[in-house]
Amino acid sequence: MSTLDIQNLHASVETTEGLKPILHGVNLHIGDGEVHAVMGPNGSGKSTTAYALAGHPKYHITEGKVLLDGEDITDMTADERARAGLFLAMQYPVEVPGVSVTNFLRTAKTAIDGEAPKLRDWSKKVKEATANLKVDPDFIARDLNVGFSGGEKKRTEVLQMELLEPKVAVLDETDSGLDVDALRIVSEGVVHTHEKTNNSILLITHYSRILQYIKPDFVHVFANGQIVKTGGAELADELEQTGYDAVVGA
Ligand code: ADP
Ligand code: MG
Ligand code: MG
Repeated sequence: MSTLDIQNLHASVETTEGLKPILHGVNLHIGDGEVHAVMGPNGSGKSTTAYALAGHPKYHITEGKVLLDGEDITDMTADERARAGLFLAMQYPVEVPGVSVTNFLRTAKTAIDGEAPKLRDWSKKVKEATANLKVDPDFIARDLNVGFSGGEKKRTEVLQMELLEPKVAVLDETDSGLDVDALRIVSEGVVHTHEKTNNSILLITHYSRILQYIKPDFVHVFANGQIVKTGGAELADELEQTGYDAVVGA
């Protein structure tokens, strides 16, 4: 099973002037194996939602709760949430000098499973995943995200997801900055993992293009730290044609 239940989520971000409230009661239920897209204007709190879910230490949940497969993860640390089965592909992946992609992946897998993956099995999986994502095998010897292009960073995020096989994947603008070929390859990677593991996906995006590949069961519109409208896949096209203001009624 892989469900995510976000109940009345209020969250604040730590700033130099203190805590700044960003989320004002987000409610979202993602059923087993469902794909939910979240769209909305810049600054509406989409990434804050992603960070609050993943347990980023600068993003504080001040009210409400988050359940993963019925288990309350609200007070867990980021690693505990990852072990519980949550994965976040960040909008701006962090550069980690001195840690190669391949070492990072193996360390993450070991931390999440509680034991190191069998070497031969693991090598095979890494080979498959890199081939699927058309990642050059030499690439994974490089330091994580250091000097990577925007597209390479996004591809590396999806590579992580393919190998870690989380129950719930939150993908924050994984499509931004990708050319059409890269978008197709990355999307196919996401769909491949989804079909293999029946994970649940929360897909944050500005563009309906990625939703042609990763078909959402529901589309939500985010504004001012809340979900203001929910619909089916057609809502994404409507948003792209008319803009957020027309749909949200701002
Ligand atoms: P979105 O992903 O929808 O574009 P964000 O969640 O990144 O929006 O940001 C929501 C709001 O929170 C914005 O007004 C943004 O400026 C503010 N915010 C986010 N992170 C920080 C931070 N670290 N310090 C100050 N303000 C922040
Ligand atoms: Mg599905
Ligand atoms: Mg964002």
